[in-house]
Amino acid sequence: APEALDALMSSHIAEYPDFPEPGILFRDITPLLRDADALRTVIRHWASVVPADVEVIIGTEARGFVLGAPLAYELGVGFVPVRKAGKLPGTPRSRTYDLEYGTATIEIAEGALAPGVRTLVVDDLLATGGTAAATVALARELGADVLGAHFLIELSGLAGRERLGDLPVTALWSID
Ligand code: AMP
Repeated sequence: APEALDALMSSHIAEYPDFPEPGILFRDITPLLRDADALRTVIRHWASVVPADVEVIIGTEARGFVLGAPLAYELGVGFVPVRKAGKLPGTPRSRTYDLEYGTATIEIAEGALAPGVRTLVVDDLLATGGTAAATVALARELGADVLGAHFLIELSGLAGRERLGDLPVTALWSID
């Protein structure tokens, strides 16, 4: 039930004011990760709401790995990492996007996604949407079909989903 999921999330996501910078209310998913039953409940529920025809989960470093890999495993599909710059071997594709302070660069391996493959972009939290938009752009640059973007948590007040245009956006827990 949605109320049960809300209760599980609110009791397993910790809040840290002014981390990592003044004015940011940091949402910490580690209480959820360390509770075996809660983690399994969330991943199983998540697997039940993704598009049935997804073929690859794309997760963004680092918490998109921690949640995206078990989600892919539960679905029986593959996992492709989008990493911070300088971590992937070969000649990866890069995107640089704006953060509140400065910029960030993320990368995907050349050839990691077959043209036309049906993918879902996954991360722990949607804030401004900059990270997800850059991840979607990298996937599309390789020719993948991005079916949607899925998040454990959406900070709805930041309107991140508007950065993703027409792409369907789903969050298991939307908070203001
Ligand atoms: P954004 O690109 O603004 O949507 O930020 C999303 C990325 O930054 C995600 O990978 C989140 O893990 C992280 N992030 C942004 N804001 C927060 C927050 N308030 N608490 C925890 N993580 C956050």
